[in-house]
Amino acid sequence: MSNPETSSDTSFANDTERWHRALEAAGLGVWDWNLKTNVCIYSESWCRMLGYRRSDFSENADLFLLLIHPDDRERAVESGDRHLAGKTDRIETELRLQHKAGHWVWVLDRGAVIERDENGNPVRMIGVQTDITQQKQVERDTSLVNERFRLALTAAEIGIWHFDVARGRSFWDAKTCEIFGLDTASKEIDGDTWHRFLHSEDRHEAETKHFQALSQKSEVKVRYRIVRQDGEIRHLETLAKSVPNQGGAGYLVGTIRDVTAEVEAARALQTEKERYEITLGAINDAVVSTGVEGVINFANASAAKMFSQSVEGLIGTNIYSILRDKGMIRSIQSNGTKDTNDGVVLELDDAFYRCRRSPILNTAGESLGQVYTAHDITADYKRREQLAYAAHHDALSGLYNRVAFDDALEEAIARAADERLAIFYLDLDHFKALNDFAGHAAGDKALRAIAEGVTALLPEGAFFARLGGDEFAILLSGYDRTSAENFATETIAAVRDVSLNCAVNGPRLGCSIGIFVIDDPSIGASDALARADDACYAAKSAGRNRYAFFTESRSTRTSGLSAAREVADLTEALEDNRLILFGQEIRSLQRPREQSGRLEILARLQARDGRIVGPGAFIPAAERFGMAAMLDRWIIRKTLAEHGHRLTKVNLKVGFNLSAQTLCDPTLWPFIKEVAEENFTPLSQIAFEITETAAVSCFETAELFVRSARRHGCTVSLDDFGSGLSSFDYLRRFPISCIKIDGAFVEKIVDSQVDRAIIASIMELARNLGFDVVAEKIENEQVAARLLQLGVTFGQGFHLHKPERLDDIISRRSDGEVWMGRDSIAVGS
Ligand code: C2E
Ligand code: CA
Ligand code: CA
Repeated sequence: MSNPETSSDTSFANDTERWHRALEAAGLGVWDWNLKTNVCIYSESWCRMLGYRRSDFSENADLFLLLIHPDDRERAVESGDRHLAGKTDRIETELRLQHKAGHWVWVLDRGAVIERDENGNPVRMIGVQTDITQQKQVERDTSLVNERFRLALTAAEIGIWHFDVARGRSFWDAKTCEIFGLDTASKEIDGDTWHRFLHSEDRHEAETKHFQALSQKSEVKVRYRIVRQDGEIRHLETLAKSVPNQGGAGYLVGTIRDVTAEVEAARALQTEKERYEITLGAINDAVVSTGVEGVINFANASAAKMFSQSVEGLIGTNIYSILRDKGMIRSIQSNGTKDTNDGVVLELDDAFYRCRRSPILNTAGESLGQVYTAHDITADYKRREQLAYAAHHDALSGLYNRVAFDDALEEAIARAADERLAIFYLDLDHFKALNDFAGHAAGDKALRAIAEGVTALLPEGAFFARLGGDEFAILLSGYDRTSAENFATETIAAVRDVSLNCAVNGPRLGCSIGIFVIDDPSIGASDALARADDACYAAKSAGRNRYAFFTESRSTRTSGLSAAREVADLTEALEDNRLILFGQEIRSLQRPREQSGRLEILARLQARDGRIVGPGAFIPAAERFGMAAMLDRWIIRKTLAEHGHRLTKVNLKVGFNLSAQTLCDPTLWPFIKEVAEENFTPLSQIAFEITETAAVSCFETAELFVRSARRHGCTVSLDDFGSGLSSFDYLRRFPISCIKIDGAFVEKIVDSQVDRAIIASIMELARNLGFDVVAEKIENEQVAARLLQLGVTFGQGFHLHKPERLDDIISRRSDGEVWMGRDSIAVGS
């Protein structure tokens, strides 16, 4: 800066002085450089701008070069040189000078040559330096903001545009151009361009929204599709805001974003969601999903059905409260049935569901809620319950079955160390006859009626089972012999009282009961039952419709007899020829000491130890296992083979007992004929004893047999008369010739007026129908005498003749000891 004092021109000096003052006042640093003297004067304001005082410096022309930022030096010098060289009108450069405090001050340096010599060389140059540090800072900040903004837009893939309303022109940045599939240079485009891209279906909404944005303060967001020039459809999202400018129509500024991927992902998600909702809706399992707190956020149709609610009703409700409120949770364990699979079984109303719960976890393993599935297992479950029931029950009677009885017995024996247990083995008498005669439906009905009748008698804690067929078992605890006897009597009466309601005229069923009172707690369940069974056979062979206690002596083995063992024994006995023929004569009651011409063949079995076993021990088993026919034929064949040829000679008629199986075989008569012929036996020397029970089990076949037998001179007796169904009606159809009164009526005849009356009526009937009568089981003189009084003239019994070996009887007669009784029974036709 020049010193005004040195100027010769005062007006100029004054002028200069004024300017200096003005510049100082404006805070501008002024420099004044005399190129001739190379003195540069810096104004006080310049020095202050840099934190100095003017006295701090000498008048060095290069002072500013000492303070300049090294990066700016070259540019500053060059700018000065170019101006001095006349290449520029003035110096104008931005540079940094170092403040006294050390920081940099940005200055705008402007100056020019103001005086030249006659040759035109510059002599004096004046300039002004303005502090632009602040402006520079703002510039830097702005550029930083812009950079950030640019980065953000790039990262967000957002394009920027604006529309100049007045000019009808738009400005699109590179990204916007790229989004629209144009080359990626930002450009000014015609206002119509955007409209041409719009998808026809979205045009109206997009345009309306943009238009709205112009007239409102807040921004407007809109999604729409465009069709690019190559036909590709893109989904875009625009945020537009109007920016007014003073006086003008203003701008619409906006961002634009390609949201195609987003839209497609959302659509795919939606499709996926719909697909699984449709799938879940279609399956029969109930599916419910809940949030962490148990609030249902999804339920399918099956779930709605399960809870008897609508899907909408379920959503938003807490699953626990639904289950609790309705009191529907019940663990099946408490129901007594174990559920073997995992999951809980819920019982809702009358249905059962197996429910499982799975947590929904996010990738961090935190719970987002639960998914419940419920599978309807009602059918399965009920079937299982039924199976469990069926495994222990008899379908026909509803009673327990054999398996259940075996279990119960085993348990009871183990439990009741000092409590007496009584087992009752109950076998119906004549049940097969009823079944055959009246049909299976009647038989089934009778079984049910008996189950019901006996159940009514049972004391608390009794276990009653149907073992199969017409066999039942009852287990009672705390019973001794007397109370067991009473119970058996009541049971027999109850069975007799069961109304059969069938075609048979007034028939009654009976039962035989075997009783075993367990006295040894170490006995096995199966042995215990076998003993009761054994006792039942005893009751049966003692004449049915009665009870018998198991006695050790009756059994051939300590463990008790089982029917199967009996049969095995019997088969063996036949093979070993251990079956022995016995005979018992039928004698005249008037001449009881005299031998008669007729006897009944009785089977005996010689046990391995030599003991003789009666038919009561093996015939029921043979009948049960279908071996009775074989047994009877064996006896007939053996008798005739050994003695048939001499029967006439010894004047003996032999009577064979025929079991139902034998009688019901249509080939029986041809068999008899053949065996008789083979053994030279006149048929008139043969008699048969059949029981009512056997006869009714195959009425027609039996009738045919009886007729054939009678035609050929055989005697046919009705055995055990009075003990069976006692239906005289159909017996009249059998052309039998003799009735054998059951021993049960005979043995008590002396004391029982009823029995006497029965026998009297049988005699009356026999007379009317023309039958002979034989009384069984005559054990003493008194009985014989009473029978004679009633008109019975023939009988059988220990009093008259005890059964003995047939061989002995025959050989005695063959030896000529035969005394031919005059009054031998009139037999045959
Ligand atoms: P049942 O036909 O009534 O035979 C008469 C039974 O009474 C015989 O018993 C005989 O020994 C017995 N008895 C005879 N008199 C008296 C007496 O005064 N007092 C007593 N307490 N009993 C007497 P057994 O031999 O034990 O035969 C029992 C039943 O076995 C027979 O009864 C018969 O139904 C059957 N049975 C015997 N042998 C055969 C056979 O070869 N085939 C068939 N199917 N059954 C037979
Ligand atoms: Ca007999
Ligand atoms: Ca008899």
